[in-house]
Amino acid sequence: MNCIFCQIAKKELPATIIYEDESFVAFKDINPIAPIHYLIIPKKHITSINHLELQDKELMGELFLAAKKIAKTQGIADNGYRLVFNVGKDSGQMVDHLHLHLLGGKKLLWS
Ligand code: AMP
Ligand code: ZN
Repeated sequence: MNCIFCQIAKKELPATIIYEDESFVAFKDINPIAPIHYLIIPKKHITSINHLELQDKELMGELFLAAKKIAKTQGIADNGYRLVFNVGKDSGQMVDHLHLHLLGGKKLLWS
């Protein structure tokens, strides 16, 4: 499968990795829209939220705990941040490997 986020998770493609554990990798978005813009991905390939299965429920809970930990260690937990999943074409999802956007470092407006 030719998935760029699987390749990043396997270190076959370069990325600025800021967090890694057994199940997840987080790295800087190549085209940031906020001073802090990270993508947190499961190492397991899941195409999108639409492709989640019951067996993924623990993994998804752990994904939010990883996001909380990363926000804390990156110093934005107190000021706040935004977590976003894009799902499918109307959302503009460009990479078909489930990823959680972690955005912060400024006051974020909806646009
Ligand atoms: P989405 O629109 O939710 O699919 O977001 C995909 C995100 O991945 C975009 O914000 C891109 O800037 C980012 N992106 C695409 N390729 C790379 C890459 N090789 N390294 C880091 N971020 C990437
Ligand atoms: Zn993948």
